[in-house]
Amino acid sequence: SFHKSKGQHILKNPLLVDTIVQKSGIKSTDIILEIGPGTGNLTKKLLEAGKSVIAVELDPRMVLELTRRFQGTPFSNQLKVIQGDVLKVDLPYFDICVANIPYQISSPLTFKLLAHRPVFRCAVIMFQREFAMRLVAQPGDNLYCRLSVNTQLLSRISHLLKVGKNNFRPPPKVDSSVVRIEPRKPLPPVNFKEWDGLIRLCFNRKNKTLGSVFRQKSVLSLLEKNYETLQALKGSSEDMAGEMDVSELGDTSEDMSMEIDDRNDDEMEVEEDDDAGGDGSDFKAKIIGILKQGDFEEKRSSKLTQVDFLYLLSLFNKAGIHFS
Ligand code: SAM
Repeated sequence: SFHKSKGQHILKNPLLVDTIVQKSGIKSTDIILEIGPGTGNLTKKLLEAGKSVIAVELDPRMVLELTRRFQGTPFSNQLKVIQGDVLKVDLPYFDICVANIPYQISSPLTFKLLAHRPVFRCAVIMFQREFAMRLVAQPGDNLYCRLSVNTQLLSRISHLLKVGKNNFRPPPKVDSSVVRIEPRKPLPPVNFKEWDGLIRLCFNRKNKTLGSVFRQKSVLSLLEKNYETLQALKGSSEDMAGEMDVSELGDTSEDMSMEIDDRNDDEMEVEEDDDAGGDGSDFKAKIIGILKQGDFEEKRSSKLTQVDFLYLLSLFNKAGIHFS
């Protein structure tokens, strides 16, 4: 009766369930969110440890089984079951999330939790081993990637427990790990769309130097389009205000320097200068100048820390370069 598509692998090792609950650090006053309770092996221990459990389960048959399991027990009024897709329902307030989830929703669920307000204390979640290792990966590790950087910006993540396939029925194809995610309070003051835009570009080619990442035509034209859109917006709002601003003078001088470059096109092509000719060579120089300013040109994303990326983003933004 198990549906592969719903990732229904039931925890059958009671000692493991105990360990997960112990490691979660649940308080008797906690409202616990459980995702994918299934038949309720974990749910039962959560009900014993906390004040109440809100369980979100997609499969109506599981909802029925779960409700029946606790009917007529003292636990029944501590448990609220929400039937639905956890990615689509509005999550209620909770202090802590403990869950053995279907692995196909790992990434969107993690970001849904991290976006949830008010911020919860922590989430203790079973993931596929490789996903877990990506979450905790540090600069220089093989699995260090966009997921690592983005989740670690928003939270502290630690690996709690390795879990073999045979603790489940039916056993999944992959090994698992339990991970603790603690949202950062306060969050770093950064525009997350901007941040993700930068990180996306950087990790598209994580082992290349940032110099070569940002010399790609597609990257330059994207950034230049953003830049021009923002400049145009600025311009139009200034027009509406009916005032000439100092920044407009800046724009003018930039137009002039482009003209000068155009005139020198032929000469520069002879010299086979990388930045010569074509449109946008000024813009390229601007971008590379920003990389040089922070000593980033020869650096590779696979080795950069969160602090490095925050600094890089601030340098770009200061120069009017935006990623969203
Ligand atoms: N927690 C139980 C245990 O440890 O024995 C079952 C875990 S099983 C890996 C995942 C559970 O999540 C299944 O009961 C499945 O029906 C449910 N599920 C799958 N997709 C879901 C979704 N999008 N939202 C909520 N529950 C989902």
